[in-house]
Amino acid sequence: MSAKIIDGKKFAAHLADNIKGEILQWVTDGHRAPGLAVVIVGDDPASQVYVSKKIKMCEQVGISSSLHRFSADTGQQELIELIDQLNQDPKIDGILVQLPLPGGLNEEQITERIDPKKDVDGLHPYNLGRLAAQSPLLRPCTPRGVMTLLENINVDLAGAHAVVIGASNLVGRPMALELLRARCTVTICHSRTRDLPKQVGQADILVVAVGQAGLIKGEWIKPGSVVIDVGTNRSEAGHLIGDVEFEAARHRAAWITPVPGGVGPMTVITLMQNTLQAARNLS
Ligand code: NAD
Repeated sequence: MSAKIIDGKKFAAHLADNIKGEILQWVTDGHRAPGLAVVIVGDDPASQVYVSKKIKMCEQVGISSSLHRFSADTGQQELIELIDQLNQDPKIDGILVQLPLPGGLNEEQITERIDPKKDVDGLHPYNLGRLAAQSPLLRPCTPRGVMTLLENINVDLAGAHAVVIGASNLVGRPMALELLRARCTVTICHSRTRDLPKQVGQADILVVAVGQAGLIKGEWIKPGSVVIDVGTNRSEAGHLIGDVEFEAARHRAAWITPVPGGVGPMTVITLMQNTLQAARNLS
């Protein structure tokens, strides 16, 4: 068997065209363009790349973006004051603070300071709680992007056994909540899980979000399953690679996402969807 490739890059480009059309209509109807404020602290190279992709996509779809750059030694209070100001700004519909923040800053306090109605990353406990209570408002971007990919390949989720590897607030936990909401039977694995190969072998839907290149061996994959690799790692040669042994896994899975070009572009496009949604909710 050779898995079909889930082309997130192509699908995200298609979604970008749709959102661009929706925003054009929104503006034609007399509203201002949705506004997204992006906050970046420090000079982590990966964060710089993610932020520039987000800003570029805003320009492409017609979202008005503002970038707030801070040096790594910025104090907590300065960031809190910026968030307060953005919360009050009527031209801003979405606020995104690029994570991780440099050591010494309290991420939790900053995330919780964002008005939940403008929390387009969906990471405020209010939005995570809404997702847990099955009435989501703004949903975390990467898990929502994965759900959009799964819907697009028309896989039957109800009753499927979904195994999520990784339990972070950013990806693993909200991913499990999304899959539960889609009526999967969900197993969540993390660094203390025993017998990872056995857990992986039971997955009809496998979502991996750990950040360890090649952690998931191809021979563990259940034949005919759907494999979603969220992990992004640098190989020794400097290439982006996922957490799953792609070449071996593609001979067992029915569907698989590549890295790069799978989940990454979906995260960016979902941020655009969330920003438009926030603008609609606030108007
Ligand atoms: P994290 O470090 O916060 O969490 C990692 C999780 O993996 C933890 O729950 C930990 O318990 C678990 N884990 C660690 N070792 C394990 C092991 N041996 N077996 C099973 N579980 C193990 O990371 P994160 O922020 O959730 O990100 C995970 C990966 O996803 C990273 O590579 C990150 O770069 C990537 N990511 C990609 C996108 C995207 O859009 N493609 C978005 C967010 C994160």
